Amino acid sequence: MTPTTTKAEPSFYEATQAQYRRAADLIGLDGNVRVILDEPKNVIQVNFPVRMDDGRYRLFQGYRVQHNNILGPYKGGIRYHPDVSMDEVMALAALMTWKCALVGLPLGGAKGGVRIDPSGHSTDELMRVTRRLTHALGTNIGADYDIPAPDMGTSAQTMNWIMDTYVNTVGYAGRNLHRGVVTGKSIACGGSEGREKATGQGLVDLVEEWALLHRLRLSGASFTVQGFGNVGSNAAVLLGAIGARCIAVMDHRGSIANTDGIPLEALRDYVRETGSVAAFPGAEAISVDEFWSVETDIVIPAAVENVIDARVAGLLRAKVVAEGANGPTTPAGDIVLRERGIDVLPDVLANAGGVTVSYFEWSQNRNNERWDLEEVDGRLKRRLLRSYQRVREESERRPCDLRTACYVVALEQIQSAYSERGIFP
Ligand code: NAD
Repeated sequence: MTPTTTKAEPSFYEATQAQYRRAADLIGLDGNVRVILDEPKNVIQVNFPVRMDDGRYRLFQGYRVQHNNILGPYKGGIRYHPDVSMDEVMALAALMTWKCALVGLPLGGAKGGVRIDPSGHSTDELMRVTRRLTHALGTNIGADYDIPAPDMGTSAQTMNWIMDTYVNTVGYAGRNLHRGVVTGKSIACGGSEGREKATGQGLVDLVEEWALLHRLRLSGASFTVQGFGNVGSNAAVLLGAIGARCIAVMDHRGSIANTDGIPLEALRDYVRETGSVAAFPGAEAISVDEFWSVETDIVIPAAVENVIDARVAGLLRAKVVAEGANGPTTPAGDIVLRERGIDVLPDVLANAGGVTVSYFEWSQNRNNERWDLEEVDGRLKRRLLRSYQRVREESERRPCDLRTACYVVALEQIQSAYSERGIFP
């Protein structure tokens, strides 16, 4: 299934750049800072051979885009997906810069990707791809320099392989500290409590706050979710646990619905076994357009970018779109949602839970600490709600939409750092 975009739509990177420029114009961003932020700092492409299970070698292409590091080390996930492109990775890297600045993390923005369909490879092949990628990236990543994390198609297992390869190639000294080269590791390998569910948890914290502000009782409210991977399934299960009803789910192979509520734990087990929600016995199959047209309180896009274009935005019958995915709404889609009075919790805020707990993991690794789940969840919620409030205040003060307000808050942080620091020499 390919993302729905019309020919007239800008590319993902062009769209994120246009959004950045809109916010930059609004705050009268210093021209010198603009010169720097207009382009990513480093764009790395690596081609690396990997031995397949049948003994043949195959060449893979990997990207790492380091967008900005004025606030701290580059930070951002690595995506394994057949549609990965440089345009996409550049957009995702820029989003990471705005996201980290928005939620006040001492981190910059980066993103990586490999053009690969993980479902078409054995675990052994994926391990060799990951280890060769890590070797090819070499010192372009590092615990004080650029810190990858999971994204679409990658997981804690992928991060464990990257960490293991990295610590075994950088030398013995400081070996333990080098574990911080990636976040999103399993707990046994130095990961943090709460990281696996962090993006979904953060999204649910924000949806709860939105519901409070808009007087919607979540207990009994309905929601739909596109993508039932890390972000989508965790968000769905957590919303389900506070009494909301998941009435439709879509993934790359199909869409399903059940107005009485889809049993989410059973769906999770089913997806683990079959790789998709398609043909799940606890719901009926529906078409893609039927999925987007379902009458619901909350829509959670948690898969790929550019899915809510003007046409799909016209189909939605919802109160709020909570963006778990990065860039799910196109600029034209955004306009239609605004015209139709459908609220948006923008990606850079709504899915910032992942990078926030990644930061907690990185801090724990540096200090050889282990925080319990309560501490992680508490710190995450406080940080996200603070940012949400700051964004609402900014959107009322200017006035502007919440997405633009997110960028405004982020740009103000970055502008202060540049103006107080200047540039070398
Ligand atoms: P994942 O690989 O765990 O799951 C992806 C899901 O999307 C799967 O259910 C898959 O079937 C579905 N999907 C893929 N292509 C699709 C298509 N064309 N149409 C419909 N469904 C499709 O990925 P994830 O980690 O959950 O990431 C999902 C989104 O959330 C991405 O945009 C990612 O950048 C963003 N995100 C992830 C994290 C994180 O911590 N993992 C953090 C912030 C943002």
